[in-house]
Amino acid sequence: MKILVVGGAGYIGSHMVKQLVLSNHDVIALDNLSCGYEDAVKYGELVIGDLGNKETLDQLFNAHQFDAVMHFAAFIEVGESVLNPAKYYQNNVANTQVLLDAMIKHDVRNFIFSSTAAIFGEPEYTPIDEKHSKQPINPYGRTKLMVEQILEDYDNAYGLKSTCLRYFNAAGADPDGELGERHNPESHLVPLILQAASGRREDIKIFGQDYPTNDGTCVRDYVHINDLCEAHSLALTRMQATGQSARYNLGNGRGFSVKQVIDTSKQVTGIDFKVVTTERRAGDPAVLVADSALAKKELGWQPKFDQLETIIETAWQWETTFFK
Ligand code: UDP
Repeated sequence: MKILVVGGAGYIGSHMVKQLVLSNHDVIALDNLSCGYEDAVKYGELVIGDLGNKETLDQLFNAHQFDAVMHFAAFIEVGESVLNPAKYYQNNVANTQVLLDAMIKHDVRNFIFSSTAAIFGEPEYTPIDEKHSKQPINPYGRTKLMVEQILEDYDNAYGLKSTCLRYFNAAGADPDGELGERHNPESHLVPLILQAASGRREDIKIFGQDYPTNDGTCVRDYVHINDLCEAHSLALTRMQATGQSARYNLGNGRGFSVKQVIDTSKQVTGIDFKVVTTERRAGDPAVLVADSALAKKELGWQPKFDQLETIIETAWQWETTFFK
Protein backbone atom coordinates (compact mmCIF):
# COMPACT_ATOMS: atom_id res chain seq x y z
CA MET A 1 0.00 0.00 0.00
CA LYS A 2 1.00 3.60 -0.44
CA ILE A 3 0.64 5.44 2.84
CA LEU A 4 1.02 9.08 3.83
CA VAL A 5 2.27 9.45 7.41
CA VAL A 6 1.62 12.99 8.60
CA GLY A 7 3.96 13.82 11.47
CA GLY A 8 6.30 11.08 10.31
CA ALA A 9 9.39 12.75 11.80
CA GLY A 10 8.00 12.75 15.34
CA TYR A 11 8.29 10.17 18.10
CA ILE A 12 5.43 7.84 17.19
CA GLY A 13 5.33 8.79 13.49
CA SER A 14 8.99 7.91 12.91
CA HIS A 15 8.55 4.46 14.46
CA MET A 16 5.43 3.98 12.33
CA VAL A 17 7.24 4.90 9.12
CA LYS A 18 9.96 2.37 9.90
CA GLN A 19 7.47 -0.39 10.67
CA LEU A 20 5.46 0.28 7.49
CA VAL A 21 8.52 0.37 5.24
CA LEU A 22 9.85 -2.85 6.75
CA SER A 23 6.43 -4.38 6.00
CA ASN A 24 6.94 -3.44 2.34
CA HIS A 25 4.62 -0.45 2.18
CA ASP A 26 5.49 2.61 0.16
CA VAL A 27 5.63 5.49 2.63
CA ILE A 28 5.82 9.26 2.42
CA ALA A 29 6.29 11.19 5.65
CA LEU A 30 4.95 14.75 5.75
CA ASP A 31 6.31 16.87 8.60
CA ASN A 32 6.90 20.58 9.17
CA LEU A 33 9.72 19.72 11.61
CA SER A 34 8.20 21.93 14.32
CA CYS A 35 8.55 19.01 16.74
CA GLY A 36 10.01 16.29 14.54
CA TYR A 37 13.55 15.67 13.29
CA GLU A 38 14.70 15.16 9.74
CA ASP A 39 17.10 12.40 10.82
CA ALA A 40 14.25 10.48 12.47
CA VAL A 41 12.91 9.60 9.03
CA LYS A 42 15.35 6.79 8.41
CA TYR A 43 12.97 4.90 6.13
CA GLY A 44 10.66 6.18 3.40
CA GLU A 45 10.69 9.67 1.92
CA LEU A 46 10.34 12.88 3.90
CA VAL A 47 8.41 15.82 2.50
CA ILE A 48 8.88 18.94 4.61
CA GLY A 49 5.61 20.84 4.74
CA ASP A 50 2.59 21.71 6.81
CA LEU A 51 -0.60 19.70 7.01
CA GLY A 52 -2.55 22.96 7.08
CA ASN A 53 -1.17 24.06 3.71
CA LYS A 54 -3.66 23.25 0.94
CA GLU A 55 -1.12 23.73 -1.86
CA THR A 56 1.35 21.32 -0.25
CA LEU A 57 -1.41 18.76 0.17
CA ASP A 58 -2.69 19.21 -3.39
CA GLN A 59 0.81 18.66 -4.73
CA LEU A 60 1.27 15.54 -2.61
CA PHE A 61 -2.10 14.03 -3.43
CA ASN A 62 -1.66 14.83 -7.14
CA ALA A 63 1.76 13.21 -7.19
CA HIS A 64 0.81 10.06 -5.27
CA GLN A 65 -2.23 7.82 -5.19
CA PHE A 66 -2.39 7.09 -1.46
CA ASP A 67 -4.37 4.17 -0.10
CA ALA A 68 -4.43 5.63 3.40
CA VAL A 69 -3.32 8.50 5.60
CA MET A 70 -2.05 8.17 9.17
CA HIS A 71 -2.04 11.36 11.20
CA PHE A 72 0.41 11.90 14.09
CA ALA A 73 1.06 15.64 13.70
CA ALA A 74 -0.45 17.19 16.81
CA PHE A 75 0.69 19.26 19.73
CA ILE A 76 0.49 17.16 22.88
CA GLU A 77 1.32 19.26 25.93
CA VAL A 78 -1.66 19.46 28.27
CA GLY A 79 -0.28 22.42 30.26
CA GLU A 80 0.58 24.39 27.14
CA SER A 81 -2.88 23.72 25.72
CA VAL A 82 -4.38 25.45 28.77
CA LEU A 83 -2.12 28.49 28.39
CA ASN A 84 -2.25 28.70 24.60
CA PRO A 85 -5.41 26.96 23.37
CA ALA A 86 -5.32 28.87 20.05
CA LYS A 87 -2.17 26.99 19.05
CA TYR A 88 -3.93 23.69 19.78
CA TYR A 89 -7.24 24.42 18.07
CA GLN A 90 -5.40 25.78 15.03
CA ASN A 91 -3.09 22.83 14.51
CA ASN A 92 -4.90 19.90 16.05
CA VAL A 93 -8.38 20.77 14.75
CA ALA A 94 -8.33 23.37 11.96
CA ASN A 95 -5.24 22.00 10.20
CA THR A 96 -6.52 18.46 10.57
CA GLN A 97 -9.70 19.54 8.83
CA VAL A 98 -7.62 20.91 5.94
CA LEU A 99 -5.99 17.49 5.67
CA LEU A 100 -9.34 15.67 5.75
CA ASP A 101 -10.81 17.98 3.10
CA ALA A 102 -7.80 17.36 0.88
CA MET A 103 -8.27 13.61 1.30
CA ILE A 104 -11.90 13.84 0.22
CA LYS A 105 -11.04 16.14 -2.70
CA HIS A 106 -8.48 13.59 -3.90
CA ASP A 107 -10.66 10.59 -3.09
CA VAL A 108 -8.47 9.05 -0.38
CA ARG A 109 -10.87 7.57 2.16
CA ASN A 110 -8.91 5.63 4.77
CA PHE A 111 -7.67 7.57 7.78
CA ILE A 112 -5.96 6.47 10.98
CA PHE A 113 -5.99 9.04 13.76
CA SER A 114 -3.77 9.33 16.85
CA SER A 115 -6.21 9.96 19.63
CA THR A 116 -5.66 9.88 23.36
CA ALA A 117 -6.90 8.77 26.76
CA ALA A 118 -7.28 12.50 27.46
CA ILE A 119 -10.62 12.49 25.58
CA PHE A 120 -12.19 10.64 28.54
CA GLY A 121 -11.36 13.23 31.20
CA GLU A 122 -11.66 12.24 34.86
CA PRO A 123 -12.23 8.45 34.90
CA GLU A 124 -15.63 7.29 36.16
CA TYR A 125 -14.39 3.70 36.37
CA THR A 126 -11.25 1.76 35.58
CA PRO A 127 -10.05 0.23 33.30
CA ILE A 128 -11.46 2.60 30.69
CA ASP A 129 -13.24 0.99 27.76
CA GLU A 130 -14.57 2.59 24.59
CA LYS A 131 -18.02 3.20 26.12
CA HIS A 132 -16.66 5.41 28.90
CA SER A 133 -18.09 8.94 28.79
CA LYS A 134 -15.98 11.49 26.97
CA GLN A 135 -15.59 14.72 28.89
CA PRO A 136 -12.05 15.99 28.40
CA ILE A 137 -10.81 18.35 31.10
CA ASN A 138 -8.27 20.32 29.04
CA PRO A 139 -8.04 21.91 25.58
CA TYR A 140 -5.64 19.20 24.35
CA GLY A 141 -8.18 16.46 25.09
CA ARG A 142 -10.95 18.56 23.56
CA THR A 143 -9.04 19.02 20.30
CA LYS A 144 -8.67 15.25 19.95
CA LEU A 145 -12.32 14.59 20.78
CA MET A 146 -13.40 17.26 18.28
CA VAL A 147 -11.48 15.51 15.53
CA GLU A 148 -13.08 12.20 16.50
CA GLN A 149 -16.48 13.91 16.16
CA ILE A 150 -15.53 15.49 12.82
CA LEU A 151 -14.53 12.04 11.64
CA GLU A 152 -17.92 10.59 12.54
CA ASP A 153 -19.65 13.32 10.55
CA TYR A 154 -17.24 12.95 7.61
CA ASP A 155 -17.90 9.22 7.52
CA ASN A 156 -21.67 9.78 7.44
CA ALA A 157 -21.53 12.56 4.87
CA TYR A 158 -18.54 11.72 2.67
CA GLY A 159 -17.77 8.06 3.35
CA LEU A 160 -14.38 8.83 4.87
CA LYS A 161 -13.48 5.74 6.90
CA SER A 162 -11.42 6.27 10.00
CA THR A 163 -9.93 4.42 12.92
CA CYS A 164 -9.24 6.44 16.06
CA LEU A 165 -6.64 4.93 18.35
CA ARG A 166 -6.67 6.29 21.88
CA TYR A 167 -3.19 5.86 23.27
CA PHE A 168 -2.70 5.68 26.98
CA ASN A 169 1.00 6.31 27.87
CA ALA A 170 3.18 5.71 24.82
CA ALA A 171 6.71 4.88 25.94
CA GLY A 172 9.87 2.99 25.04
CA ALA A 173 11.95 3.09 21.90
CA ASP A 174 12.78 1.13 18.78
CA PRO A 175 14.38 -2.14 20.05
CA ASP A 176 16.93 -1.86 17.18
CA GLY A 177 18.17 1.34 18.81
CA GLU A 178 17.66 3.48 15.70
CA LEU A 179 14.79 5.64 16.94
CA GLY A 180 13.51 7.01 20.22
CA GLU A 181 11.77 9.79 22.07
CA ARG A 182 13.12 13.34 21.59
CA HIS A 183 10.63 15.92 22.76
CA ASN A 184 11.91 19.39 23.37
CA PRO A 185 11.15 20.29 26.06
CA GLU A 186 10.62 16.77 27.38
CA SER A 187 7.61 16.34 29.66
CA HIS A 188 7.04 12.60 29.73
CA LEU A 189 7.86 10.51 32.74
CA VAL A 190 9.99 7.71 31.27
CA PRO A 191 12.44 9.86 29.27
CA LEU A 192 12.70 12.34 32.16
CA ILE A 193 13.55 9.56 34.61
CA LEU A 194 16.19 8.22 32.24
CA GLN A 195 17.68 11.69 31.81
CA ALA A 196 18.07 11.75 35.60
CA ALA A 197 19.73 8.33 35.43
CA SER A 198 22.14 9.35 32.67
CA GLY A 199 23.01 12.62 34.39
CA ARG A 200 21.45 14.91 31.78
CA ARG A 201 19.02 16.06 34.49
CA GLU A 202 19.71 16.68 38.14
CA ASP A 203 16.74 14.74 39.49
CA ILE A 204 13.29 13.40 38.72
CA LYS A 205 10.36 15.16 40.32
CA ILE A 206 7.34 13.20 41.45
CA PHE A 207 4.28 15.36 40.85
CA GLY A 208 2.31 14.68 44.02
CA GLN A 209 2.20 11.73 46.39
CA ASP A 210 -1.18 12.30 47.97
CA TYR A 211 -3.30 10.61 45.31
CA PRO A 212 -5.76 7.87 46.30
CA THR A 213 -3.48 5.09 45.00
CA ASN A 214 -1.41 2.41 46.80
CA ASP A 215 1.71 4.53 47.16
CA GLY A 216 0.09 7.94 46.66
CA THR A 217 1.53 8.58 43.19
CA CYS A 218 -0.40 8.58 39.90
CA VAL A 219 -0.97 5.32 38.09
CA ARG A 220 -0.66 5.07 34.30
CA ASP A 221 -0.79 2.38 31.62
CA TYR A 222 2.52 2.38 29.70
CA VAL A 223 2.40 0.87 26.23
CA HIS A 224 5.41 0.27 24.00
CA ILE A 225 5.74 2.37 20.87
CA ASN A 226 6.19 -0.68 18.61
CA ASP A 227 3.02 -2.25 19.97
CA LEU A 228 1.16 0.99 19.27
CA CYS A 229 2.48 1.03 15.71
CA GLU A 230 1.47 -2.59 15.26
CA ALA A 231 -2.09 -1.63 16.24
CA HIS A 232 -2.10 0.97 13.43
CA SER A 233 -1.10 -1.62 10.85
CA LEU A 234 -3.77 -4.03 12.08
CA ALA A 235 -6.36 -1.26 12.14
CA LEU A 236 -5.59 -0.33 8.56
CA THR A 237 -5.90 -3.93 7.40
CA ARG A 238 -9.22 -4.31 9.20
CA MET A 239 -10.60 -1.01 7.98
CA GLN A 240 -9.82 -1.94 4.38
CA ALA A 241 -11.33 -5.41 4.79
CA THR A 242 -14.54 -4.30 6.51
CA GLY A 243 -15.02 -0.80 5.09
CA GLN A 244 -16.00 0.25 8.62
CA SER A 245 -14.80 3.05 10.86
CA ALA A 246 -13.74 2.08 14.40
CA ARG A 247 -12.36 3.39 17.70
CA TYR A 248 -10.04 1.52 20.07
CA ASN A 249 -8.37 2.18 23.42
CA LEU A 250 -4.76 1.04 23.45
CA GLY A 251 -2.87 0.12 26.59
CA ASN A 252 -1.55 -2.94 28.40
CA GLY A 253 -4.38 -2.94 30.90
CA ARG A 254 -1.97 -2.74 33.83
CA GLY A 255 -1.24 0.37 35.80
CA PHE A 256 2.10 1.38 37.29
CA SER A 257 2.56 4.20 39.75
CA VAL A 258 5.14 6.94 39.23
CA LYS A 259 7.15 5.40 42.09
CA GLN A 260 7.00 1.96 40.50
CA VAL A 261 8.28 3.37 37.21
CA ILE A 262 11.12 5.08 39.07
CA ASP A 263 12.01 1.91 41.02
CA THR A 264 11.95 -0.22 37.86
CA SER A 265 14.15 2.35 36.11
CA LYS A 266 16.65 2.17 38.96
CA GLN A 267 16.75 -1.62 38.59
CA VAL A 268 17.07 -1.53 34.80
CA THR A 269 19.79 1.13 34.74
CA GLY A 270 21.55 0.08 37.95
CA ILE A 271 21.76 3.79 38.84
CA ASP A 272 20.44 5.35 42.04
CA PHE A 273 19.48 8.82 40.79
CA LYS A 274 17.94 11.61 42.84
CA VAL A 275 14.16 11.68 43.32
CA VAL A 276 12.32 14.75 44.64
CA THR A 277 8.63 15.00 45.51
CA THR A 278 6.85 18.19 44.49
CA GLU A 279 3.31 19.51 44.10
CA ARG A 280 0.69 17.82 41.97
CA ARG A 281 0.65 18.82 38.31
CA ALA A 282 -2.68 20.41 37.32
CA GLY A 283 -5.06 18.18 35.39
CA ASP A 284 -3.56 14.78 36.30
CA PRO A 285 -6.21 12.11 37.05
CA ALA A 286 -5.07 9.64 39.76
CA VAL A 287 -5.45 6.51 37.64
CA LEU A 288 -5.61 5.99 33.87
CA VAL A 289 -5.66 2.38 32.72
CA ALA A 290 -6.99 1.09 29.39
CA ASP A 291 -9.37 -1.72 28.70
CA SER A 292 -8.07 -2.88 25.31
CA ALA A 293 -10.26 -5.96 24.99
CA LEU A 294 -11.94 -4.58 21.87
CA ALA A 295 -8.64 -3.96 20.05
CA LYS A 296 -7.50 -7.47 20.98
CA LYS A 297 -10.74 -9.04 19.80
CA GLU A 298 -11.35 -7.10 16.61
CA LEU A 299 -7.80 -6.34 15.50
CA GLY A 300 -6.09 -9.41 16.94
CA TRP A 301 -3.74 -6.95 18.66
CA GLN A 302 -1.38 -8.59 21.13
CA PRO A 303 1.25 -6.32 22.69
CA LYS A 304 4.69 -7.95 22.57
CA PHE A 305 6.65 -5.50 24.71
CA ASP A 306 4.16 -5.48 27.57
CA GLN A 307 6.64 -5.68 30.45
CA LEU A 308 7.51 -2.35 32.03
CA GLU A 309 11.15 -3.53 32.24
CA THR A 310 11.29 -4.03 28.47
CA ILE A 311 9.74 -0.64 27.81
CA ILE A 312 12.33 1.02 30.04
CA GLU A 313 15.22 -1.09 28.68
CA THR A 314 14.51 0.03 25.10
CA ALA A 315 14.18 3.68 26.20
CA TRP A 316 17.44 3.35 28.18
CA GLN A 317 19.25 1.95 25.15
CA TRP A 318 18.17 5.07 23.23
CA GLU A 319 19.08 7.45 26.06
CA THR A 320 22.56 5.96 26.43
CA THR A 321 23.39 5.72 22.73
CA PHE A 322 21.76 8.68 21.04
CA PHE A 323 22.50 11.26 23.75
CA LYS A 324 25.91 10.01 24.83
N1 UDP B 1 5.15 12.77 36.13
C1 UDP B 1 5.95 13.04 37.23
N2 UDP B 1 7.12 13.73 37.02
C2 UDP B 1 7.51 14.17 35.80
C3 UDP B 1 6.68 13.89 34.68
C4 UDP B 1 5.50 13.18 34.89
O1 UDP B 1 5.64 12.67 38.37
O2 UDP B 1 8.56 14.80 35.69
C5 UDP B 1 3.90 12.00 36.33
C6 UDP B 1 2.66 12.72 35.85
O3 UDP B 1 2.14 13.53 36.88
C7 UDP B 1 1.75 11.54 35.49
C8 UDP B 1 2.72 10.46 35.05
O4 UDP B 1 4.00 10.85 35.56
O5 UDP B 1 1.07 11.08 36.65
C9 UDP B 1 2.82 10.33 33.55
O6 UDP B 1 3.01 11.64 33.00
P1 UDP B 1 3.34 11.89 31.48
O7 UDP B 1 3.48 13.37 31.29
O8 UDP B 1 4.48 11.02 31.06
O9 UDP B 1 2.06 11.34 30.70
P2 UDP B 1 0.49 11.69 30.86
O10 UDP B 1 -0.07 10.65 31.80
O11 UDP B 1 0.36 13.08 31.35
O12 UDP B 1 -0.02 11.50 29.47
